[in-house]
Amino acid sequence: MARRSQNERVLLTGVAGFVGSHLADRLIEDGWEVIGVDNFLTGRAENIAHLAREPNFHFLEASVEELPDIEAAVDWVMHFASPASPPKYQASPIECMRCNSEGTRRLLELAHQKGAKFFLASTSEVYGDPEIHPQVESYVGSVNPVGPRSMYDESKRFAEAMTVAYRNKYGVDSRIIRIFNTYGPRMSPDDGRVISNFVCQALAGKPLTVYGDGTQTRSFQYIDDLLEGVVRLMQTDYNMPVNLGNPQEFTILDLAEVVRDLVHDGVTEITFCPLPKDDPTRRRPDISRAQELLGWQPEILLRDGLERTVPYFRDQLGQDERMPAG
Ligand code: NAD
Ligand code: UDP
Repeated sequence: MARRSQNERVLLTGVAGFVGSHLADRLIEDGWEVIGVDNFLTGRAENIAHLAREPNFHFLEASVEELPDIEAAVDWVMHFASPASPPKYQASPIECMRCNSEGTRRLLELAHQKGAKFFLASTSEVYGDPEIHPQVESYVGSVNPVGPRSMYDESKRFAEAMTVAYRNKYGVDSRIIRIFNTYGPRMSPDDGRVISNFVCQALAGKPLTVYGDGTQTRSFQYIDDLLEGVVRLMQTDYNMPVNLGNPQEFTILDLAEVVRDLVHDGVTEITFCPLPKDDPTRRRPDISRAQELLGWQPEILLRDGLERTVPYFRDQLGQDERMPAG
């Protein structure tokens, strides 16, 4: 992509997290100047350490709901802050809800004042435990408002509603993506989501912790595919939600098998643990909208994405590539 003029600037929240740090790299590569915001609730300084000397990157340590005034002109406000891993958002329920409610409003207000466009990272979790399969954007969801995932699901639903309200009331030009399970390097080893858990467990020669009987399904998207979808959506003027995910669906037991093969030659045990309440039974995106609108579809198969991710976790766990795990 052609380099942009110096003034084109993105304010990107959640920049020290898994997705946000990769998105910052991609935007800078594409010629944007990035002001990254994060409060390190679940993010890590090491994810953005490589940007310390990057002239087109500036970092502001702040919580989005208390974001100070920004003097610079801004062309896009991209809201990717929010804990995303169930154990993490459950450990910080109020912080999660404030980030997605007050934080989203604060950022929409900023976009409104600056005449900037607004980009919301929403989630497949707005569909809850879905009654239709695969999930299409017109499905309004099945969410338990008082369940153990509600601090995340409901606050993301609120964030979408607030985004629509600012568009209707003030004309803030917005994009909404619903991200389905995405993985890759820079996830924290203690993140708690299934891919980081399984890979780290396999690397350590520990049993893989399958919750329930492992027949629940998810569809796993590699980070680079998500970034491509985000960048393409920025180039449209489409305001309604767009699913971004990989439609290849796996049971959690399938995933355990793939990880086991890839990391530990099939010797790692599986241990079955209780299934958390309200854990969605099935999840797979219908990506017709993204295909038609963006000419986009994921290119990276699960096994290939995991092959790119395992060396990162090996490094995080301090293991030498040539050493046997354990
Ligand atoms: P992550 O936990 O790695 O990153 C989230 C980042 O947001 C962290 O750096 C954290 O410190 C920061 N943050 C949290 N609350 C904040 C606040 N109040 N103010 C400022 N910064 C704050 O998670 P991720 O996987 O990178 O997720 C990024 C975004 O994508 C989130 O909005 C998440 O809901 C969404 N999403 C991700 C996935 C996925 O599978 N990775 C799926 C659906 C949606
Ligand atoms: N899961 C699992 N073992 C783990 C972590 C998660 O079996 O160590 C299951 C979890 O119950 C869910 C699926 O894997 O059915 C995906 O969980 P994750 O936390 O990654 O994301 P989400 O539930 O938000 O899709």
